Amino acid sequence: MNDNQLLRYSRHILLDQIGVEGQERLLAARALVVGAGGLGSPAALYLAAAGIGTIVLCDGDNVDLTNLQRQILHHTPSVGRLKVESGRDTLQLINPEVEVICVADRLAGEPLEQQVAAATVVLDCSDNFATRHAVNRACVAHRKPLVSGAAIRFDGQISVFDQRNPHSPCYHCLFPEGEDVEEVRCAVMGVFAPLTGIIGAMQAAEALKLVAGAGQSLDGRLLLFDALAADWREIHLAKDAACPVCANRAD
Ligand SMILES: [Zn+2]
Repeated sequence: MNDNQLLRYSRHILLDQIGVEGQERLLAARALVVGAGGLGSPAALYLAAAGIGTIVLCDGDNVDLTNLQRQILHHTPSVGRLKVESGRDTLQLINPEVEVICVADRLAGEPLEQQVAAATVVLDCSDNFATRHAVNRACVAHRKPLVSGAAIRFDGQISVFDQRNPHSPCYHCLFPEGEDVEEVRCAVMGVFAPLTGIIGAMQAAEALKLVAGAGQSLDGRLLLFDALAADWREIHLAKDAACPVCANRAD
């Protein structure tokens, strides 16, 4: 790190659990952020401010006026622009040292595999089950830690599925595909503005801890937040021995 970086990241370096070594891990890391909306906004803002070396921002949507109530990566003059480009501009203003790679597409198939394989940590900030399951499958296949968040109405949830640990559950263990789960999306349902900030900031915190090697992650635990009651609940998750995604992975 040069003098400027030692100053910029001094409040991380002062933390025993991060220090110079942890900050250097952050600078060398590559975070894949799937979704540049309500959760991806605060997550990417904190990753950039904290000095994650490379952030890959994926989203195929354009900024809409209805997004601005919570998607704090985007500003009023950005309405109509691609979210990834609007997001890149905001991130570079906060920290021009961070390399931001834009993927203006809903990530799937081979491009998804490539991005997950290249990532140090993956943040699922998407808003639909198809993407969530595809990202989970790629993280299991490539043994990448996945930080998964969701927010709808006043309810939020966050968990970590650390696929570097063969005993960890995956997203599919918790939410099997094909079940009659009604998909509720912020695009049509309401969502409390700061709820996405709370969950997205926690996703950034878990991702930074995983990369820096600080503390204990949420691996194997699901936190549920009820913003109306201001109440957090914790559920312990077990690996599903019959999970078609992670149970028989070749180790
Ligand atoms: Zn599983």
